[in-house]
Amino acid sequence: MKRLVIVANRVPDPKERGATAGGLAVALQDAVNRRDAMWFGWSGKTAEATAAEPSLLRQGRLTYATLDLGDSDYRRYYQGFSNGSLWPTLHYRLGLAQFSRDDYAGYREVNAAFAGALAPLLRPDDMVWAHDFHLFPMGAELRRRGSRQRLGFFLHVPFPPPAVFAGLPRSAELLADLAAYDVIGLQTEDDAAHLRAALAAEGHAEAAERVSAFPIGIDADAFAKLAERAVEKQEMARFRRSIAGRALVIGVDRLDYSKGLPQRFSGYGQLLARYPEQRSRVTYLQVAPVSRGDVAQYQALRRELDELVGRINGDYAEPDWVPLRYMTRPVPRPTLAGFMRHARVGLVTPLRDGMNLVAKEYVAAQDPADPGTLVLSRFAGAAPYLKGALLVNPLDPDEIAEALDQAMAMPLKERQERWEPMAAEVREGSARNWCQKFLAALEG
Ligand code: ADP
Repeated sequence: MKRLVIVANRVPDPKERGATAGGLAVALQDAVNRRDAMWFGWSGKTAEATAAEPSLLRQGRLTYATLDLGDSDYRRYYQGFSNGSLWPTLHYRLGLAQFSRDDYAGYREVNAAFAGALAPLLRPDDMVWAHDFHLFPMGAELRRRGSRQRLGFFLHVPFPPPAVFAGLPRSAELLADLAAYDVIGLQTEDDAAHLRAALAAEGHAEAAERVSAFPIGIDADAFAKLAERAVEKQEMARFRRSIAGRALVIGVDRLDYSKGLPQRFSGYGQLLARYPEQRSRVTYLQVAPVSRGDVAQYQALRRELDELVGRINGDYAEPDWVPLRYMTRPVPRPTLAGFMRHARVGLVTPLRDGMNLVAKEYVAAQDPADPGTLVLSRFAGAAPYLKGALLVNPLDPDEIAEALDQAMAMPLKERQERWEPMAAEVREGSARNWCQKFLAALEG
């Protein structure tokens, strides 16, 4: 079997394996366990200057090769172009995108530095798989250094219609970079169609043929077990007591403007305003760990949410009932899984999302004998795959309120009929299958 070289902005912590690790590490675990493999990318640490050579750590058949980023490269490549320009553009939010030529130069320099550090480590029959928007130019930079290996790229976030992407300065160069990859994967058929059209419009018709949808998944069985075990724990018993028999609505998202949190909170406020009988019946827990807290737009979002939560609780709370519980601290995965299993409604309303794994985790966590209802944004990548959800326009708080009311009233039989095909889909579209399909395409 060929060695697999995974290139990602962040290399997972070698200490964190199994169910506690981050999304990409979990998704690739199976592929990595079965063959010689290397993780290559940023260490997560900054230094005075970006390292020219990676530090290597071997664990059996797996090698971790990581580079520290220089402070100025971190600002330009990571905070600047990746998070400040590409992230909003790819999520259809050109109005939030900020562009600076200096940041863009930093983005290209870091991709070149990564390729320069990786090229000497590559063996002729390696397969290289680069991940996400931080690394559009990585393949082209490797080719420039003589790489003839099979090179694959997967974009975890959405790809917008060509006219939106064209709003990003230098977008044509990024499309030309993508043409260096042998396989280009996206989350949904819509994303794939957008990228094909953008490539074709820039004269890369051949590269457009290498674009396909490979929807990412989770390890559903492992997550179901995690959820099942969590509800037996003592802290969950305490949590259940504190809910006092009310139906739980759960939201779990990084605190990011793509997640539609202000509209979601307003939707919940609308539920309480328009359906007063629900007031005594429901409690909404939103877990939203702070993310990119050093970026101004994220700080503004946090202030907006603080105010909205205060307003909703101020308007509707009773001495013995807090309608909206809001946590910005990270919560251990097993606890999250337990919350999801206990929740009558999973509320997942991103304005745009590549896939949204939380939606799949909510489905996997349910008790087959008494499953909850998923209220899902029609603009999440998961929407075309999870047809049993109540789909909403996440920009419309009234529609969110109506879906919540419908979910709260849904009889067991309908909940099961909606949940079962979704559970089958989540099991079938597992992380392992995603990985195998992509690697099969990459192998050619
Ligand atoms: P994104 O990648 O944009 O954050 P996803 O929904 O695709 O969105 O993936 C988020 C992942 O992070 C999920 O696996 C989710 O369970 C996990 N996660 C979200 N919030 C927390 C939290 N507070 N603590 C631990 N894991 C979390």
